[in-house]
Amino acid sequence: MAHKVIIIGSGCAGSTAAIYTARANLEPLVFEGAEPGGQLSLTTLVENFPGFPNGIMGPELVQLMKQQAERFGAEYKLEPVTRADLSRRPFVLAADSGTYETQTLIVASGASAKWIGLESERRLIGHGVSSCATCDGFFFKDMRVAVVGGGDTAMEDALFLTRFARKVTVIHRREQLRASKIMAERAMLNPKIEFVWDTVVTEILDPTLQKVEAARVRNVKTGKEAVLPFDGVFVAIGHKPNTEIFEGQLDLEDGYIAVQDGSKTSVEAVFAAGDVHDRHYRQAITAAGAGCRAAMDAEKYLEAHSK
Ligand code: NAP
Repeated sequence: MAHKVIIIGSGCAGSTAAIYTARANLEPLVFEGAEPGGQLSLTTLVENFPGFPNGIMGPELVQLMKQQAERFGAEYKLEPVTRADLSRRPFVLAADSGTYETQTLIVASGASAKWIGLESERRLIGHGVSSCATCDGFFFKDMRVAVVGGGDTAMEDALFLTRFARKVTVIHRREQLRASKIMAERAMLNPKIEFVWDTVVTEILDPTLQKVEAARVRNVKTGKEAVLPFDGVFVAIGHKPNTEIFEGQLDLEDGYIAVQDGSKTSVEAVFAAGDVHDRHYRQAITAAGAGCRAAMDAEKYLEAHSK
């Protein structure tokens, strides 16, 4: 029998949708995806989620949300959905464990880290090049690392890496940070962090040695090139929405799912929540709010269409 609701994604948006739909007795099935817990599971201290005056670790926060949803009967599956057919009713989803039918679908598949796009970068991922400071920072005790990017993630990564690294160099393509003032100030005041402005990384050395030894950089204003020695390069230049399986089926805007009137997508009974449709706010709390909205929209749809 078809499920009433399937949720793709187990970050703040997915688990909040699971809490709400479970409490509405819709017995949601949640596919946790390739990054269970979403981006919060890769972060450290979350200080801006209301209700935690002393902050809470990101992985703990998403785990608590999952537990809360499970308490009300949500079922989680630790696998990604690999294909979706939204042209049929009920919708059909495929995962490694089989195919699943559902009357409504909440897409909360989030966004994944972007890469610079260099061949040397690709070859050195896992050998000194990383997009997850929280996961890999530990390996750089007393070493020199670079963080590429100028947003909050770059600042957060740089600050986190100072716990391990001897020196952290933030390489940013402009002379102004995109990061929030408080994060930027913290990074600027940290004596272990230095900034290289107006600069892009053009090559990471040395893929033939299977390890990071340096980064070739170019100043975008002067055109001057330099080779800066590093033991690790952390790429923190933003994220890309996880919408591949919906290409050609849902209306997308620059890869993000287009929504209207709350969480409604271009296909009736498919709702979107969180970073997969939100390119503007992208916060844990806004994702949680969007998950709630999608759950309520799915519930309303099911109510209106129940025989
Ligand atoms: P972001 O705000 O989009 O910043 C991406 C940064 O990478 C920008 O500085 C951008 O440069 C740079 N960049 C993009 N593509 C590049 C490329 N190809 N080469 C070199 N540099 C490139 O992304 P984010 O930092 O991941 O943050 C995403 C959202 O999450 C934001 O809303 C942020 O506030 C939030 N966040 C919050 C916290 C927190 O509050 N603790 C922590 C992490 C993230 P330009 O500035 O020139 O565009």
